Amino acid sequence: MAESAEAVRTGHLARCLCGGQRFDLAWTYDTPPEGETRFPDLDGRYHREVWRCTACGHHLIDPGVELEELYTGGYAEATYGDRMRETFERITALPPEKSDNHGRVKRITAFAEEWLWVPDAEGRRPRALDVGSGLAVFPWALAGEGWSVTALDPDPRQAELARTLACVPTVCADFMTADGLGKFDLITLNKVLEHVPDPTMMLTRTTSLLEVGGMVYIEVPDGEAAAEDGPGREEFFIEHLHAFSLTSVGLMIASSGLAALRVERLREPSGKYTIVAFCGLPDLPNRDEERRALRVLVHERPATAQAAAWLDLDEPDRSAPA
Ligand SMILES: [Zn+2]
Repeated sequence: MAESAEAVRTGHLARCLCGGQRFDLAWTYDTPPEGETRFPDLDGRYHREVWRCTACGHHLIDPGVELEELYTGGYAEATYGDRMRETFERITALPPEKSDNHGRVKRITAFAEEWLWVPDAEGRRPRALDVGSGLAVFPWALAGEGWSVTALDPDPRQAELARTLACVPTVCADFMTADGLGKFDLITLNKVLEHVPDPTMMLTRTTSLLEVGGMVYIEVPDGEAAAEDGPGREEFFIEHLHAFSLTSVGLMIASSGLAALRVERLREPSGKYTIVAFCGLPDLPNRDEERRALRVLVHERPATAQAAAWLDLDEPDRSAPA
């Protein structure tokens, strides 16, 4: 039987994204579930709790430790070890039907062709910023579709990976404080918001970096769907402070000053339960005659050896929309 939380709660556990302050204890962990990243530092003191907001179905996860403590000096190693390059190559070689990333790129480019409105689109490629680029498989693939992509990651090793493997311009910085990023037609936060204490604040930051008519794409773990399968699901793993519901995603978007354009839940090829959302600035001109779809060119993917040269953004633009 679920137990209600009456105790004093602090930090990200104090209040749900919806403003709710009543929670049921969904479950606790005293050992890592199968498949979770092992942090040897936690041996003998592993304890986590997952709390479900009674108002909106969002899950708040208490990791039992400061996550910074886990990430300092070893998250990338613990997650990928020396095999980051191999992992990049393995994921990029997956057949489309088995690749979460392929589905993501297809979803975004299809939506952009229908919706994205860029007044000065002619003569330039659409610009994207991928926040929390990690292994950089997504920026690499989106660049291959004709986008000008900047990868941002606070971890120097991940940022270096994006630069050398994905061959895209890279910023190593904290998204919340990075200066001089410029403006973008698309900002993506793929499986990023669940890692931060205040995802609403992070999403709000996108509004000052969006071009007029630009859009934000987010992916977050769907805790509502995953909970049906029980506590072993990866959506509740230790790196996550949040697992979302459709309601909490909608409320987070609205609280961030964005307008939800499309919100949907899906089961990805990897088996992940995910909620994806497209958002825009609410004051976007929306009369059809004032909108012009940006044609996103689809290119043959360049061979790896040519990728760096092809993606060199200092060169004259060769992919202006037709
Ligand atoms: Zn809530």
